[in-house]
Amino acid sequence: MGLREGGSASPGAPEDGPSPGARLKEVQRAIADACARAGRPAGSVTLVAVSKTVPLAAIDEVITAGQAIFGENRVQEARAKWPPLLARFGHVEVHLIGPLQTNKVREAAGLFTAIHSLDRPALCEALVRERARRDRLPMLFVQVNTGAEPQKAGVLPEDADVFLAACRERYGLDIAGLMCIPPVSEPPAPHFEALAGIAARNGLSYLSMGMSADFGLAIEYGATHVRVGTAVFGPRQSTPPRAEGPPRRLD
Ligand SMILES: *Cc1c(COP(=O)(O)O)cnc(C)c1O
Repeated sequence: MGLREGGSASPGAPEDGPSPGARLKEVQRAIADACARAGRPAGSVTLVAVSKTVPLAAIDEVITAGQAIFGENRVQEARAKWPPLLARFGHVEVHLIGPLQTNKVREAAGLFTAIHSLDRPALCEALVRERARRDRLPMLFVQVNTGAEPQKAGVLPEDADVFLAACRERYGLDIAGLMCIPPVSEPPAPHFEALAGIAARNGLSYLSMGMSADFGLAIEYGATHVRVGTAVFGPRQSTPPRAEGPPRRLD
């Protein structure tokens, strides 16, 4: 893959190393290479640049370098950072990649163009209520907890078919695809393969999978949306919320 977490920043000086604009170019090249290896058209993969904890100046630089789609894992942080940027750059959009509380669905529907973390009936109900108030909902991905990790959000793999059927038939929600975050301590390939299998048998065409360490592999397994933070922006400075977000119990 050639892209390691942390890129080429020297040890002990994480603020050094390539600029976000240069890193972006490197990630774009790695995505194109992975598409070529997988025999997929270049452009069949959407890069979601994960900007959680990233300062505005670096986001600005990446927008100027041509990136238009960003990911945040917390509504609160996105609310503080994005409205001025969205007002300045009309073509830019933000996706929610972290857990969502039902009481933040209204705000999330106004701020994000995609939600990657739909995982329970209470959220479906809140989205249905919200749909009555606006023209359209964000694009929806159902998160699957492929590793069945108790602290992680997402429906269990064995419950995915039933949940997807409920989303469509009971709630009338248009589901675009599936999302997963493989366990950090396991090889990701079986998780990517499992997610692709659930998508295929449910007729879903989008797969949100792959992060800095494994997005090339995810593309080989069919990822259409890769969520890449560190490889674009460099190491995160503060202690961020863990990739899997806050604990499971939300409602
Ligand atoms: C932080 C985060 C990412 C990006 O992780 P990197 O390893 O920095 O690329 C992707 N997905 C989710 C859900 C995250 O919270």
